[in-house]
Amino acid sequence: MKVPLLDLKAQYETIKEEILAATAEVYESQRFIMGAKVEELERKIATYAQVKYAVGVSSGTDALLISLMSAGVGPGDMVITSAYTFFSTAGSIARLGAIPVFVDIDRHTYNIDPERLEKKISTMNGEERSRAKAIIPVHLFGQCADMDSARAVAKSLGIVVIEDAAQAIGSEYQSSHGSLHRAGSMGTYGCFSFFPSKNLGSYGDAGMVTTNDADAFERLKILRVHGSQPKYYHKVIGGNFRLDALQAAILLVKLNYLDQWTEKRRENARIYRSLFAGKGLEQIELPSENKGRHIYNQFVIKVGPDRDDLKAYLASQGIGSEIYYPVPLHVQECFGYLGYRAEDCPVSVDAAARTLALPIYPELQYEQIEYVVEKISSFYKA
Ligand SMILES: *Cc1c(COP(=O)(O)O)cnc(C)c1O
Repeated sequence: MKVPLLDLKAQYETIKEEILAATAEVYESQRFIMGAKVEELERKIATYAQVKYAVGVSSGTDALLISLMSAGVGPGDMVITSAYTFFSTAGSIARLGAIPVFVDIDRHTYNIDPERLEKKISTMNGEERSRAKAIIPVHLFGQCADMDSARAVAKSLGIVVIEDAAQAIGSEYQSSHGSLHRAGSMGTYGCFSFFPSKNLGSYGDAGMVTTNDADAFERLKILRVHGSQPKYYHKVIGGNFRLDALQAAILLVKLNYLDQWTEKRRENARIYRSLFAGKGLEQIELPSENKGRHIYNQFVIKVGPDRDDLKAYLASQGIGSEIYYPVPLHVQECFGYLGYRAEDCPVSVDAAARTLALPIYPELQYEQIEYVVEKISSFYKA
């Protein structure tokens, strides 16, 4: 049996006619940059994320970059974020000449650890505190970071929160008061990616920034078109961060299916849990689920130091898996100048060595999940 990590062709088969019709409309209009489709998508994503405004951009990376630019982050400023995330969270900080400040993660959720965050802030001196401009909590694998803690820290430092919600569209956070909040609605900026492997994936690169702040919304729109307002009059230096009409047309079709696909992912996670429970494998730690809503962009297990052997064995049995991420950011070569040592973020180093993402996509069949669990079990029982 073959079980790929992700099967986008299976999904395309179910929506092909609608996609072809929606893109044909764009071809007929010959309006490829911005326009009605982009505006419609912005309205619908704002509603979906439960915010007032949304600005379509060229990628999730550019969503982060333009948010940092809008927040006025520049050379020498400090931006606090997780050591264990996709590169672009920190790359976008460094590209502006600002300094990423890495905080280690919680060993169960893989999100920024509230205690270590507190500790980091308490060791910053007055000068460092005044250079801090933003915090970027990342909702890794589809589960929200501890936003009560991130918001409290932001408040104490007087800085903005930029949510990296690239993997978390539709994910919900339950605050200590019990209220539920959608990813992208809890900071000043929410950054989404529509990279094809995300829960809502385009047919190329695309992204979105959400906000409830009317001034931020205006700045984002100006920064997206080279900082010009009106056209050819440049108030600030922006970039070309626009979203293509074709991608917007595709995303509008796919958005109608997002909740049903996410429910399938959540159902697949439940199937994994019950099948693994029946095997009694002590070597495997399953993903933790907080209160709120996990959207399972990834289903990540933690195993022993034999993780790479397990991955190779699964590949030999036709099963796709992936390591997110093999090298934590604080020890990436390009960030050597920041002077971190591996032991500064030990939980991230451990996660990088022992985690493995299993197939979880909506079109996955029960028999395929059974097969994956069976093969993992035979690897450990051999
Ligand atoms: C995918 C991703 C991004 C970047 O999104 P792109 O659209 O690929 O630029 C940023 N942060 C996280 C956590 C991601 O998973």
